[in-house]
Amino acid sequence: EVLDTARSVSAPSPHEPWTTEWAGLATREVSAWFGERKVLDRISLDMPARTVTALIGPSGCGKSTYLRTLNRMHELVPGAQLAGEVLLDGTDIYAAGSRATAIRKRIGMVFQKPNPFPAMNIRDNVLSGPKLAGLPVADPDALVELSLTRAGLWSEVAKRLDEPGGALSGGQQQRLCIARSLAVSPEVLLMDEPCSALDPTSTRRIEETIREIAEEVTVVIVTHNMQQAQRVSDSCAFFLAAENEPGRVVEAGPTNAMFTTPQDPRTADYVAGRF
Ligand code: ADP
Ligand code: MG
Repeated sequence: EVLDTARSVSAPSPHEPWTTEWAGLATREVSAWFGERKVLDRISLDMPARTVTALIGPSGCGKSTYLRTLNRMHELVPGAQLAGEVLLDGTDIYAAGSRATAIRKRIGMVFQKPNPFPAMNIRDNVLSGPKLAGLPVADPDALVELSLTRAGLWSEVAKRLDEPGGALSGGQQQRLCIARSLAVSPEVLLMDEPCSALDPTSTRRIEETIREIAEEVTVVIVTHNMQQAQRVSDSCAFFLAAENEPGRVVEAGPTNAMFTTPQDPRTADYVAGRF
């Protein structure tokens, strides 16, 4: 079967990818600051391996900041500070001796606006993932096919691999970015509003892709789309920041329960669209 043969072409991670030894992600009392300003207050969440966790809440409550603490992108922002622990497979990614570049190979990120290299062809866009991560690729053709297949794009671009990434539609470009991330064999994929710039059909395709990759990869997705949160996520965390206060998690738990029997009236209002 194509997936299984292609899987053996690269073993980029010291944590052998595609095995059952998958990491889950958890945070313990994560707080974050930009300069003097505290924007996250003691966020503790469990994001079990091979599940989808949706982060929901109004703009400005710290969802993107939280996501960036999960793969050490937060520390790239000048003046950014952090407290607490981010545990990947039980080990703090901020522990002394842990390297941010190594962490970012294990925990990939997909952004709101699709950002393939527009002039670079589709094949090289996929391979740019492992290339920029400094990972050797034994069989590039097999890795390109595997990654595009897993991103749900292979059938559409199999005969167009030499065309520039910029020639694709917005939804296809986003799936190309997902393929580029998957080509590094991450254990976790962080997605910051990956469908916000896309039409409903492309959104649906990406939701299908998310469910499929979550069979092997732990997914954390920020979304403003409550239907999307219900369709794709296993569990949900509702973030809220009162005026001049840092973002906090009001409520977290199984998605079904969050939408049917929210425990906090603020959650009930938010998921019902009263905000
Ligand atoms: P969300 O993704 O939920 O909309 P963000 O994490 O982007 O929220 O932002 C949380 C807060 O942190 C906001 O008040 C925002 O203005 C502030 N913030 C975000 N990025 C920066 C930054 N690079 N420098 C200073 N403040 C920032
Ligand atoms: Mg955001």
